[in-house]
Amino acid sequence: MKLFLSVDMEGISGIVDNTYINPDAGVNYQRGRKFMTEDANAVIEAAIEAGATEILVADSHNTMNNILWESLHPKAKLLAGSPRNYSMVHGLDDTFDAALFIGYHTRQGVPGVLSHTMSGVIRNLYINGRVVGEFGFNAAYAGVYQVPVVMVSGDDLVAEEAKELIPGIATAVVKKAVSRTAAICLSREEATAELKKQTKLALGNIKQIAPFQTAVPMEMAVQFCHAGQAEMAAIVPGSRYETETGTVHYTAQDQHDLYTTMRAMLNLAAGAEFF
Ligand SMILES: [Zn+2]
Repeated sequence: MKLFLSVDMEGISGIVDNTYINPDAGVNYQRGRKFMTEDANAVIEAAIEAGATEILVADSHNTMNNILWESLHPKAKLLAGSPRNYSMVHGLDDTFDAALFIGYHTRQGVPGVLSHTMSGVIRNLYINGRVVGEFGFNAAYAGVYQVPVVMVSGDDLVAEEAKELIPGIATAVVKKAVSRTAAICLSREEATAELKKQTKLALGNIKQIAPFQTAVPMEMAVQFCHAGQAEMAAIVPGSRYETETGTVHYTAQDQHDLYTTMRAMLNLAAGAEFF
């Protein structure tokens, strides 16, 4: 059994605000990296007990250099560093039996610990008319390969967001959101136990979880926070700018086109000044 673990940081056990996830200025960042590595290890340990033979861990936060390589479970390989063409799911293909999304968070504009979608410029992101966050976007990428996302970990609200898209998905809820930067967190011991329990449940259930299906080609719509960002994103060849809603539309031929175009739009939009 070959598994892909995409590990983000906002939904990691014990993490509640920017001080844990900002590599440059976060006073708790070094602690956050440790928590992230511990969450990943809990999942890897349980996965190996459940029969996993190959595990690729994709560090999926910010510059993607957060997991403590020297402390990661010896049986897992680590994909670290950036840029990567397919960012949080780079390396995922049809040779994997399942994917697990660890430390994930809710989408931009809804409650949940550190909710956002990819970066600060997106207000809403749609695939084939369906609003998605990072969970849904990455699940759609995996879905084209027919790889099911069988588990998510994070707060109680990302668990709900995931269940709406993938019925039956196992959810390891390691904290209960109180506000966007506050949560009631399980203890280290309880969080580890929950991650292990849900991993085993998920891997015993792979055949029952359908991959997240989206029709290909995929209609992507990116609604930006302000018009300047949308104008920059609309430089992407083949895109269509809908001025009334600040949305840039693009028809992606496949999951690769989808991911790289989204990244190109975000990078362009980041260059737009607000004032
Ligand atoms: Zn992140």
